[in-house]
Amino acid sequence: MAKKKTPVNALDLPEEAFTGAAEVVNFDDRISRYTGAKKHSLGMRDHLQGDPGEEARQAAARLSSCGNWLHFREYYTVDKVRLHAAQFCKQHLICPLCAIRRGAKTLAAYLSRWQVIHEERPDLKLYLLTFTVKNGEDLGERHAHLMRGLKRLLARRRDFNSGTARAPWTELCRVEGGVYTQEVTNIGNGWHPHAHMLAACTGEPDAAALSAEWQAITGDSFIVDVRPITGDPVDGFLEVFKYAVKFADLDYAQNWHAAQVLKGKRLLASFGCFWGVKVPESLLDEPLDGLPYVDRFYRFLQGQYQFTGESPQEAPQEAPAAVFAPLSGADRQALESHRRSKRSPRTGLAGVVGTPPDPHKLE
Ligand SMILES: [Zn+2]
Repeated sequence: MAKKKTPVNALDLPEEAFTGAAEVVNFDDRISRYTGAKKHSLGMRDHLQGDPGEEARQAAARLSSCGNWLHFREYYTVDKVRLHAAQFCKQHLICPLCAIRRGAKTLAAYLSRWQVIHEERPDLKLYLLTFTVKNGEDLGERHAHLMRGLKRLLARRRDFNSGTARAPWTELCRVEGGVYTQEVTNIGNGWHPHAHMLAACTGEPDAAALSAEWQAITGDSFIVDVRPITGDPVDGFLEVFKYAVKFADLDYAQNWHAAQVLKGKRLLASFGCFWGVKVPESLLDEPLDGLPYVDRFYRFLQGQYQFTGESPQEAPQEAPAAVFAPLSGADRQALESHRRSKRSPRTGLAGVVGTPPDPHKLE
């Protein structure tokens, strides 16, 4: 079941990653979220089509075809829906659809790492640390300033921990491992890059001391927030693995500018016990191997994702060539009675029924 329910807002919503996102009961929200994201991507495409540059032209073409169809699988015996195949542009700095998927995949990878850490070191507690720098007109300069500050803070931690002579203590020495991401906003007072860090700590970092260190390092910035993550760790993870650019706060021109400035820059870094987590390249969900499913094929038509009733075999070439075996009469009956017992029928449920082929990934 869903663990919480918040209003659907495709542009400022890390909800994709919350643990109930794959549940059948939340599927309509998921489709609405993707619809909102795809619409925003198309708005960006239209904006870029007015830009004479070659780079803008290519980016617009990729946005055009991103997520035009989505092939889901409903694993009806466990009431889960997984995104099985789709074609994504992977321009997560300008495409909310790709940003949503990427955030969810990254979150899942770091959450599993935390589960391992937590089992081995139950004494470690999670904190959410936020580092900000003063706003400025030059995003590139502000971004570099933030990065330099964090690098210096982490170098202090490393030097102190390794016993370097006269290395100063830093509050980050309480951190056994961390992962941080950057976020960029601009709400009228210039560019405001900041970093959110999930930190596994032996003790609570002193916010005032950390703030003083941060000011000494950066020279112009002192705002540091330290918040313990109590309850479900997913809430803290959501804060860190949302989007690098806050789509809802930026107009398309600002968004494109930010994407140009941040392109190729490292927007996520980790250290200590959070180091070395591998995030899968694919933006698709992992299949639930061995469980029966029905296919649900959606296309973006007339401004929204619509269930088309297509068999994925009729789908465009990029769709995987899945092998579908018809259900036996008994299986079909079991499925129908399972559906009747669970909920009232919806349009999206009249999909092609199949049994799982060999697992494969395709984007
Ligand atoms: Zn995309």
